[in-house]
Amino acid sequence: MASNIIKGDKSERELTFMGKLYFPEIFKGMAFSIKHIFRPTVTLQYPEEKPDLGPEFRGRPVLVKEKDQERCVACGLCARACPPLAISMQANETADPKERFPEVFEIDMLRCIYCGFCEEVCPEEAIVMSPDYDFNFVDRKDAVYGKDRLLIDKNQLQPRLNFLAEKRNKQFGKNINFKEDNNGHILRDRTND
Ligand code: SF4
Ligand code: SF4
Repeated sequence: MASNIIKGDKSERELTFMGKLYFPEIFKGMAFSIKHIFRPTVTLQYPEEKPDLGPEFRGRPVLVKEKDQERCVACGLCARACPPLAISMQANETADPKERFPEVFEIDMLRCIYCGFCEEVCPEEAIVMSPDYDFNFVDRKDAVYGKDRLLIDKNQLQPRLNFLAEKRNKQFGKNINFKEDNNGHILRDRTND
């Protein structure tokens, strides 16, 4: 077979005598592998073992249910912000006290790209990214989650809500002389509710 090495090419690496033997490097590689056999593993036997992804992980978006009531007021901001138009809803009102709520709220999980924009814009902290990433469908219709599968109790979402309270929008409005009093939803202290 013709060699591709151009004779006299200074950029070509010269092999030492030991390098030309190959075996020392092969044994070095084998010793490295054997050493790691007896070390603790860092991989997980998924799906039997699940990783702890922490509150910063953005899994499927869910609706927050608090004291058996949904926080969502069906303002539609999340649907507007959603890049792949995965959210759809139908608003309604209660009579007394007058409160808006979503009669229908659906997220198409096949469209969702887990960007978190819906969570970012929600004035009520009513939609948050949950740690749930492990779900599948046998039919496209199964992927459209309604309120029955979206509403999750606040206690189960507390790590994410704490994470948001700590990390979210610390600089919001600072560069545009924003009045913090106007930022009701982000400054709202839900811990006293
Ligand atoms: S996470 Fe992003 S893509 Fe998914 S529903 Fe929210 S805004 Fe839409
Ligand atoms: S932005 Fe929040 S309150 Fe408004 S419709 Fe979406 S989930 Fe409901």
